[in-house]
Amino acid sequence: MVVGLGPGDRENITPEALDAIRSASVVAGYHTYMQLIEDLLAGKERVATSMRGEVERANKAVEKALQGELVAVVSSGDPGIYGMAGIIIEVARGRVPVMVIPGVTAASAAAASLGAPLMNDFASISLSDLLTPWETVQKRIDSAAAGDFVVVLYNPRSHGRPDHIKIAREIMLKYKSPATPVGIVRKARRGHEERVITTLQNMLDFEIDMLTTVIVGNSQTRVEGEFMLTPRGYRL
Ligand code: SAH
Repeated sequence: MVVGLGPGDRENITPEALDAIRSASVVAGYHTYMQLIEDLLAGKERVATSMRGEVERANKAVEKALQGELVAVVSSGDPGIYGMAGIIIEVARGRVPVMVIPGVTAASAAAASLGAPLMNDFASISLSDLLTPWETVQKRIDSAAAGDFVVVLYNPRSHGRPDHIKIAREIMLKYKSPATPVGIVRKARRGHEERVITTLQNMLDFEIDMLTTVIVGNSQTRVEGEFMLTPRGYRL
């Protein structure tokens, strides 16, 4: 089972995901996420690996499943969105049954904090180039901005590459107005949440790190009181 833990706090883990973890004999995951569910792990075998240990984790998890264990591979947010679902299916190669249990992804958690920025079409782009060439990432930012999509940026500050967010902003400014609303949410639904609504012009004045999701509006997005709002298009 590949299990989504949601953005961080216990209220945002689904009952199905909790049941899956409770039923498992082995739980595998990045150690930070294992800590979030520490109280659920008593009596279970743990396979904790480091941040970049996804392949190792997937191999170990599938090995355990082949030995007859019921394995839960935990992944933050939704496991099918920059998470562990894909690699588990690739490594399992049909040898063990795989079930993917969804979770609340960072885009949903961040959007809820900001109001309603994702009411119309949006594109999700990870600024990490660990697994996708940076050229490709830049092309996708360009296409999404040219298409007037709301853009959700995951992994906005790649490890050791602080310039990605700056370049992403430059590309978007080719098509989007500097006044375009931008929402920055750090630690959404994880305690001590921080949330800022600013503009494409000023977004770099705020702290953006690996615990942050950035949402850049489309040409219709506006600030409505305390909220960032992309209207769906209703006539009022
Ligand atoms: N599978 C996860 C995403 C993993 S990629 C999901 O569906 O949410 C990791 C990126 O997700 C982080 O760099 C950050 O951009 C975002 N993220 C994850 N949890 C977050 C949270 N609680 N608050 C804000 N952003 C978060």
